Amino acid sequence: MIENLSDEHRAAILSSALEQIADSVMITDTSGVIKYVNDSFEVVTGYTREEAIGQRASLVKSGKHSEIFYRSLWATLRAGRPFRHVFINRRKGGAIYHEAKTITPVRDKDGDITHFVATGRDVSERVETESRLERLAYTDSLTGLPNRQRFLELVRDALEQSVDTGSNARFAVLFLDMDGFKAVNDSFGHFAGDHLLGEVAERLGELIREPDVLARLGGDEFAILLHDVGDATPVAADAQRILDAFRPPFDVSGVATYVDASIGIALAPDHGTEVFTLIKHADTAMYRAKKHGGSYCFFEPEMTASVHEQFNLRNGLYRALERGELSLDYQPQIDLTDGSVRAVEALLRWCHPRFGVVSPELFVPVLEDIGLIHEVGRWVVREACQQLRTWWAARVPVPMVAVNVSPLQLEDPEFVDSVVDAVQRFGLPPAALELELVETANLAVLDKVEAGIRRLESVGVRLALDDFGTGFSAFSHLSRFPVHGLKIDRDFVAGISALASNESLIEGIMAVAEKLGLDVVAEGIETADQLVRLQQLGCKCGQGFYFCAPSAPDVIREFMQRQAPLLRTMVSGGDGEVQLRPSAAG
Ligand code: C2E
Ligand code: MG
Ligand code: MG
Repeated sequence: MIENLSDEHRAAILSSALEQIADSVMITDTSGVIKYVNDSFEVVTGYTREEAIGQRASLVKSGKHSEIFYRSLWATLRAGRPFRHVFINRRKGGAIYHEAKTITPVRDKDGDITHFVATGRDVSERVETESRLERLAYTDSLTGLPNRQRFLELVRDALEQSVDTGSNARFAVLFLDMDGFKAVNDSFGHFAGDHLLGEVAERLGELIREPDVLARLGGDEFAILLHDVGDATPVAADAQRILDAFRPPFDVSGVATYVDASIGIALAPDHGTEVFTLIKHADTAMYRAKKHGGSYCFFEPEMTASVHEQFNLRNGLYRALERGELSLDYQPQIDLTDGSVRAVEALLRWCHPRFGVVSPELFVPVLEDIGLIHEVGRWVVREACQQLRTWWAARVPVPMVAVNVSPLQLEDPEFVDSVVDAVQRFGLPPAALELELVETANLAVLDKVEAGIRRLESVGVRLALDDFGTGFSAFSHLSRFPVHGLKIDRDFVAGISALASNESLIEGIMAVAEKLGLDVVAEGIETADQLVRLQQLGCKCGQGFYFCAPSAPDVIREFMQRQAPLLRTMVSGGDGEVQLRPSAAG
């Protein structure tokens, strides 16, 4: 309310505010006829007032939204609620633009809707950056082939299709791992290794035709998706053709070099109706094929049995918690501008009585599989909070603890309660806890975790997206969830300097994060070169063996007391001068 003013004066102020506001404004009557537009509207759309007024709001319609979209728009407005969305509109000249728009119904004194006010901002540039980054994030930079994420998504599509159509059309997933690649890398160097991978991609590309898919999963691993295969016979023939393509030597730095490949095959739906099962089975079959070298092998159910027997992970895990075999290591995250410690990340460890320390990368998926992740996850949060309290009591200046959380945990409403409980029990401010949510490829899961994420936000616990850049439509998560930070996956950091495209992805991530005001932590910094390059790219936080490996709480305490004071010199390249670009976007 603008108080103490005459009606006329107030109206004058409001109307000139409307004229000059940076957002575009359009007012229509209830049938959608334009009654008013402001200056920004003219600038953004290219239509003058005279051209716009009297026309329908569909003047800027691009035809890119569905019937359902407009139906939900009108239903919302008629119910008297505002409608918010990024609209794809068309300027007068025909060009498409993206507008973040809110349409609000305006009521008269009797409560009847008389007009709609639409305010909007042109966000085309942001949308363009995001989609460019998403494309980058889906492509393997070395070969230009679809990468792991893209491949998983395509397998998921194929599964959905075969279920949807009820056809149960069979398709095949082939995992290919080169034999002898490491030897080439070791004797000729990475550059030659990369060149060889490029040649392999090319040869395979000649054999695999659309709609079939060839992807590079990473390292010397490729994957192939063959649609509509009927039974195993044609797949076996294709696998053999692929192996034959490895017969002629490859040219590595002028030397004729022979490498082989092993292929594991899983058929859908026979060998799995879920992406991860299917992939795991193709992988298992590939290891079997490796035993012989230069061969292919179809998955058989007995194979998993033997893999599980070998590790006996499941059974062991059921008892691990009660037997005290689980523990947490911690790894500091360093502020790259001044060398201070921003936080420590808690990393789960399982010390198996027979196999020794088992990697969380192996056993966390099993915990998820058997549903134990909930119990263990709650334990991790409690343990990490207690440790932070212990450090604080001993005046060890660790400001914050970060805990990894799998999306499955957030589906459980009790999880948020347990987080709140842990924070309160150990008397911590909620912002001293950051949860690192591993990006998930499963959108269905995301819908289920949304409520949990919003509750965490309301409590004040921080949230970061882990392994950012590797998950499905990573960037769309950003606009959807109230996150405070991102962690750049260590694969991108490892690829720095070797691959310019990795750097441009990091740069892009930095630019988006800067715009959204998010913290960015680069993972897996192992060398001074990587540190300097990340600083040049504007990255303000980092974590990795270069500073400190994940360590037991006592070691961290030592580290904070003895090494942490030296960090300032490390991040300043030894001469006290910190090399950091002022802004990532600039
Ligand atoms: P993450 O959260 O991305 O953790 C970072 C991983 O990178 C850790 O592996 C860490 O030991 C490793 N690392 C740190 N610095 C470097 C470096 O300079 N170079 C290289 N090559 N690696 C580095 P770790 O401990 O094996 O954990 C693997 C993953 O397991 C974690 O990835 C996280 O996703 C998951 N995880 C760990 N603890 C938990 C947990 O309590 N709950 C859940 N749900 N997942 C966990
Ligand atoms: Mg993490
Ligand atoms: Mg990570």
